[in-house]
Amino acid sequence: FDNRDGFIWFNGELKPWRDSTLHVLSHALHYASAVFEGERSYNGKVFKLAEHGERLIKSGKILDMTIPYSAAELDAAVLETLKANNIVDGYVRRIAWRGSEMMGVAAQTTKINVAIATWQWPSYFKPEERLKGIRLDLSKWARPAPNTAPTDAKAAGLYMICTMSKHDAERKGYADAMLLDYRGHVAEATGANVFFAKDGKLHTPTPDCFLNGITRRTVIDLAKARGIEVIERTILPEEMADFEECFLTGTAAEVTPVSEIGQYTFTPGQICKTLMEDYMALVTGQKDAVAAE
Ligand code: PMP
Repeated sequence: FDNRDGFIWFNGELKPWRDSTLHVLSHALHYASAVFEGERSYNGKVFKLAEHGERLIKSGKILDMTIPYSAAELDAAVLETLKANNIVDGYVRRIAWRGSEMMGVAAQTTKINVAIATWQWPSYFKPEERLKGIRLDLSKWARPAPNTAPTDAKAAGLYMICTMSKHDAERKGYADAMLLDYRGHVAEATGANVFFAKDGKLHTPTPDCFLNGITRRTVIDLAKARGIEVIERTILPEEMADFEECFLTGTAAEVTPVSEIGQYTFTPGQICKTLMEDYMALVTGQKDAVAAE
């Protein structure tokens, strides 16, 4: 992924993609002092640009990292990077990390670096394909408690268990993995939040030890605009036996129907279809996206 044309915004300037490297003694590499964002541009417009910028700064604060740019400066830099790379439908990755000025657990005098990369990511929306649903493994890893890890931050270190879970899942032929939390409650997938539907209502875990995703919040608003009740609550794994539909939400996942989680099965139906369509209409800029039928 590192050997290609294009530009990466690197501490305030656009650098050739290939030259956007860092030192092996970077604190972030050894101690996971990195926070990042994943965002998407549709038809040349970044969906929820400002929310992503604010979350990056907030994630940094949680990890005791003061990002040396304002939210507005970072947002402008995202747009500059998209333009420099001629990206219209693409993914944007902003990342901030501690540099290599000192080595050890304490890292107060390390520089906080910031980079922004973007690459093509057309929105392939094939509703019929997606409505078949994806299959999820149930991970052996648990999302940590909020006093074990900075669960409100989009922090690199939290993805260690996600990568291990996803590798296990893919080895077994699943598309992704669902993680329970430290109490044994249903939490989220490796890079997306989860919703269930039953009797015309949506149920989703309370985000008290995982990211309250920007897509999650958007989909809750879309559901409410449709008159669909959304219940945020504790969900026990055995309750998954009673749900009719299930889908994931995330910047990359958008709204992705799920057909299986471990031993539990779901049939993507009208709620999945409606919210997939409303979400795509919203992100691609149709103003009346949530108008009632
Ligand atoms: N949970 C995790 C672990 C994620 O990586 C993501 C993707 N950022 C989400 C949830 C969904 O967040 P968002 O909707 O803001 O992309």
